[in-house]
Amino acid sequence: MTLRIVLGILLSAVLAAFIFAPGAADRSMNRVTEPPPYTASPRATALFRTLRVVDLHGDPLLWGRDLSVRNRHGQVDVPRLIEGGVTLQVFGLVTQSPRSQNYDRTPADDLDAITALAILQRWPIRSWWSRRARAEHLSQRLFELAARSEGRLHGIRSATDLRAFLERRSADPAQVAGLLGLEGMHAVEGELAGVEALFEAGVRMMAPTHFFDNSVAGSSAGVEKYGLTAFGEQAIRRAEELGITIDLAHASPNTIRDVLGQVTKPVVVSHTGVKGTCAGARNLSDAEVRGVAATGGIVGIGYWAGAVCGSDPASIAAAMRHVRDLVGAEHLALGSDFDGSVTTSFDTTGLARIVDALLETGFSEAEIRGVMGENALRVLLETLPEGTPRRGR
Ligand SMILES: [Zn+2]
Repeated sequence: MTLRIVLGILLSAVLAAFIFAPGAADRSMNRVTEPPPYTASPRATALFRTLRVVDLHGDPLLWGRDLSVRNRHGQVDVPRLIEGGVTLQVFGLVTQSPRSQNYDRTPADDLDAITALAILQRWPIRSWWSRRARAEHLSQRLFELAARSEGRLHGIRSATDLRAFLERRSADPAQVAGLLGLEGMHAVEGELAGVEALFEAGVRMMAPTHFFDNSVAGSSAGVEKYGLTAFGEQAIRRAEELGITIDLAHASPNTIRDVLGQVTKPVVVSHTGVKGTCAGARNLSDAEVRGVAATGGIVGIGYWAGAVCGSDPASIAAAMRHVRDLVGAEHLALGSDFDGSVTTSFDTTGLARIVDALLETGFSEAEIRGVMGENALRVLLETLPEGTPRRGR
């Protein structure tokens, strides 16, 4: 009798976890302080309608939410990207999150939350232990979503894909492009074959590290924060050869220095802040911003407190002004980190508010056009592999 009751309770708890846990985490970790609809000034609204908008980083693929329908929680899904006038969204692939994850000192071997998520969301069994399999599974999610989106979402694998998409979208704006970006090359599992496998899976942007030091490089939040390892030098070189854009978000200062000393193409920092307006281990120093700019690269400014010391559009614009005054507006981009466990003041339907804040901060319309998307398109078209045209997705 007692045993049956205990077993019953245990079974219910397991079932409840299966059904509710990832959704509850999604709701509590990806919050928007002001609900839509959002308004902006007539001038910002009119300008916004003429822009091609690119967001260098968002993590909606992680949560298991159906991204083909409009959700009342979270910050990004396909209907909201289209309603919000977004041309291209980079979808981040998160494959390991240590339980004690923090900006200063995150041990790599701490209990991993993504393992629980992989089991609770019933990802393929291999992904319960393999980070590479997790990245492959999440990549597949994007292309499957695109396949059943009835032409509203297109996965981008090449410069050819991107040019064709931009042409189609100029005729019909009710569509958005998605590009895959890896958060942390621990997912290549210490092998150049891992870089190649993830390229095959469609990954076109790679950050050497996420919150912890790995076999490729040290993280800004790692324990030792070292630079590129010998394997890391090879892995970055192979990624660049394949046409994968190198992303220095989450990289340690040593890693940033080593990567900048090695790359031959523009790099991005997909979602970050700058120490010039917001101190913090994760944010770029002025010298690092100059280094990124020297490659022809771009800095994607985030919308959350850890990046810009606020979540209001004025804080975002202040960080952007700092970068513009340092290296020029052509080195700026958007890097929301939407659905990356951050609280923001608007979701992806509120981006005209950034235009408003930039106008108030003294950016010209041409500069705003660059920041909101043209700079990112320039870098992607320069770094993506050429490839052959694909139809439909
Ligand atoms: Zn991140």
